[in-house]
Amino acid sequence: MALSQRIGRFIGVRQHRVDPGGGGPRRVRHPVDVVVVGGGIAGMSAAVVLAERGVRVTVLEAASTLGGRLGAWPEQLADGTQMVEHGFHAFFRQYYNWRSILRRIDPGLGFLKPIPGYPILSQQWPTEEFGRLPPAPPLNLLTLLARSPSVRLPDLRQMDRDAALPLLTYDPVRTYAELDGTTAAELLDSLKLPDRARAMLFEVFSHSFFNHEHEMSAAEMVAQFHFYLLGNGEGLAFDCPDEDYATAIWAPLTRHVGRHGGRVVTGAAARTVHRDGDRWRVRTADGTAYPAGHVVLAVDPPALAALVGASPDLSREAPRLVERMAAFGTPGPPYAVARYWLDGDVSRRRAVFSGVSRQPTLDSVTLYHRLENEPRIWAERTGGCVVELHAYACDPGVAAEELAERMRVELGVLWPEFAGLRVRELRARVEAQAPAFTPNSHATRPGVRTDADGLYLAGDGIATDFPSALMERSAATGIIAANHVLRAEGAAAEPVRSIRPRGILATR
Ligand SMILES: Cc1cc2nc3c(=O)[nH]c(=O)nc-3n(C[C@H](O)[C@H](O)[C@H](O)COP(=O)(O)OP(=O)(O)OC[C@H]3O[C@@H](n4cnc5c(N)ncnc54)[C@H](O)[C@@H]3O)c2cc1C
Repeated sequence: MALSQRIGRFIGVRQHRVDPGGGGPRRVRHPVDVVVVGGGIAGMSAAVVLAERGVRVTVLEAASTLGGRLGAWPEQLADGTQMVEHGFHAFFRQYYNWRSILRRIDPGLGFLKPIPGYPILSQQWPTEEFGRLPPAPPLNLLTLLARSPSVRLPDLRQMDRDAALPLLTYDPVRTYAELDGTTAAELLDSLKLPDRARAMLFEVFSHSFFNHEHEMSAAEMVAQFHFYLLGNGEGLAFDCPDEDYATAIWAPLTRHVGRHGGRVVTGAAARTVHRDGDRWRVRTADGTAYPAGHVVLAVDPPALAALVGASPDLSREAPRLVERMAAFGTPGPPYAVARYWLDGDVSRRRAVFSGVSRQPTLDSVTLYHRLENEPRIWAERTGGCVVELHAYACDPGVAAEELAERMRVELGVLWPEFAGLRVRELRARVEAQAPAFTPNSHATRPGVRTDADGLYLAGDGIATDFPSALMERSAATGIIAANHVLRAEGAAAEPVRSIRPRGILATR
């Protein structure tokens, strides 16, 4: 264990048990049917836990492939088929719940390979490296302040240290009470940071949550600083699969659910959810009805609002849920993903993954031919490279190809050798499915339990009362939904874990 982790442990920066699990026999003692709508991380995490406990679980996934925003599918290129992902993902080490689900398919998590470094690129300032900080606070923060050329001692003196205190005093209740009405941009303005520090340390980070700073709650930003940097003992370093997500994750997880008697149905879009006496009935687009004692809705926010809106019974069964859908169902801004297959390669010095600061569109760059096996083989065969570009919060109404071209040009400014590479293939997409974390949205954010018995929610927009975000929140809420079912049916629940629940300077 690193020195910083030992010091961190001493002040309580370690894995915490949110729910110890247990509390009954390992398997349900009578037949229990559950329908899970949505085969992304949230839905499949719920299904894994339920199937292992003897529940007859059916996952209904609208798309032809599993995974949702972590999905992957084959694309026909001019010179053969290549798997393409919905977008590159970083698997952080404090994703305890998501990793516990992934351990079912690979106990040692050998398919996750460490990504060396986490540089931030900028046109104005030299690249800054964040991946090699000591993993745990407070040493990671002190090292960052000592090492980073973006924050010098005189800058720290000018900074409003009182305004910065909320970053270190995260509290799941007080932070929201004090800051949910403020925007992340207002909070960052109030710190009075030099422009360079704001750009290199804060902006890249806040963009990663698929919300614009001026539309995102400051409380959410503080919560995410706590989760990713200031409250976890695992650090900012992360891992990635060395195969596409369908091969590495979804195929083996589907087999795992099947081995435990669960069923995964793709191409099955749920259209309505009805109450049928003391049971639920989910009807899909082809008219099939799936009866169940419990239902977990594990879909993205706009899909949840559409499903709830199309299910008239829910106005009677779950009026609070129905009421919350107008705000919750409006997603964050669109995000864009462009995967380029190019002739030639970028410099050997370029990192596998880089964040980008202050470009109008581009937020991150991933060199897939140095990450996953299939693109690596393609690049070796052709002498080319496979590069994925992301924009996490773009202007609405701009076509995917246009956003892809803007990102390509912007990267050419940062990496001159990239500008000269000829494009052989492009797959570009723009979508809006990420949850919005707008100011004042916390009080009405739905949690896992709804006001209807036996109807639960899971996903990265669903509230948790412990630190979590993105993939980890999806997995955690999926497991919590499964636990509600298991406890209601008298079987043992699954443990749920998180990081230190409060900031390192938080007082009770
Ligand atoms: C480009 C990009 C990069 C990202 N990078 C990271 C990262 O680096 N690290 C990180 O932690 N997170 C990252 N994320 C976020 C992460 O992908 C999400 O938090 C997570 O995958 C959400 O999972 P979910 O199961 O909650 O929702 P989803 O993945 O949206 O799954 C919902 C599923 O429900 C299905 N569905 C919808 N409606 C219906 C219906 N009516 N019937 C049946 N099925 C339905 C959908 O098809 C989908 O499969 C990234 C996201 C994107 C888009």
